[in-house]
Amino acid sequence: MTRLPTYENVIEAAGHLAGVAHRTPVLRSRRLDAEVGAEVFLKAENLQRMGAFKFRGAFHALSRLDPERRRAGVIAFSSGNHAQAVALSARELGIPATIVMPHDAPASKVAATQGYGASVVRYDRYAEDRVAIARHLAGETGGTVLPPYDHPDIIAGQGTAAAELLEEVPDLDVLAVPLGGGGLLAGTVLAAAALAPGCAVHGVEPAAGDDGAQSLREGRIVRIDTPRTIADGAQTQFLGTLTFPIIQRHVAGIATATDDQLVDAMRLMAATLKTVVEPTGVLGLAAVRSGAVPARGRVGVILSGGNVDLDRYAGLLGG
Ligand SMILES: *Cc1c(COP(=O)(O)O)cnc(C)c1O
Repeated sequence: MTRLPTYENVIEAAGHLAGVAHRTPVLRSRRLDAEVGAEVFLKAENLQRMGAFKFRGAFHALSRLDPERRRAGVIAFSSGNHAQAVALSARELGIPATIVMPHDAPASKVAATQGYGASVVRYDRYAEDRVAIARHLAGETGGTVLPPYDHPDIIAGQGTAAAELLEEVPDLDVLAVPLGGGGLLAGTVLAAAALAPGCAVHGVEPAAGDDGAQSLREGRIVRIDTPRTIADGAQTQFLGTLTFPIIQRHVAGIATATDDQLVDAMRLMAATLKTVVEPTGVLGLAAVRSGAVPARGRVGVILSGGNVDLDRYAGLLGG
């Protein structure tokens, strides 16, 4: 089995990312503080390069490939932020990238991925298996398949966002983090356990699919059907074999947020902070506002991404 990443690996990732990733700002809102009854610190990863924290893990993972593997290229399967993160990171490092995407992926996402210089291979999501396609491509080219969350370098890279937040605000009492497959949460708990051992870190997943909470309760990785939610970055069916044991060991709890709560949190971000955050990106904020994550003292929240089609954004906020 692959060795689990540690906080040392998060530090190593921060070294690779220095001067490449943005050190994203920490936003404050008096209105939000008053509403929640605590001081809230929002780590704005929606302002990260390509619009989400996923750039951190992808760039760090690709930085660790040796020259021979770099030449053979990288392959990813995703229609979301991981695809764009791999495409941009590969371009920065001069590595050829191939992204396997479904035929019905939003045109804007395909265009963004191609815009970063990656070649896109399309597949039929109802008839074909994207993992098998990626493996086949890897077999032909010798390329490296980079998964979106269950990889030690991805976890270490994602942990650098919380590490930056805790450097800036060292005495957080609570930290609320969006949860899909658990790369971001696993990296975050590694950073928090080292930098702020008293801080209670909570993962937040969509109410439509609480496989993370179920997994924690049952002490094993529970699999569910793809949840129907507007939080498209957290429509995962199960945690990873690396992310789960790390989360299980360090997390204070796993809460949920409903789609209505996500829209309300997106509206608050737009109205008070003039900031676009995608539905998945406000999972942590929504749970802090609803009380699903208990707020006290100084509360950190990771706003994980801002990539949402503007028509869809307008529809969600206007509805
Ligand atoms: C991928 C993603 C998540 C979930 O991250 P995991 O590492 O899969 O838990 C949360 N928010 C955004 C914006 C994402 O792109």
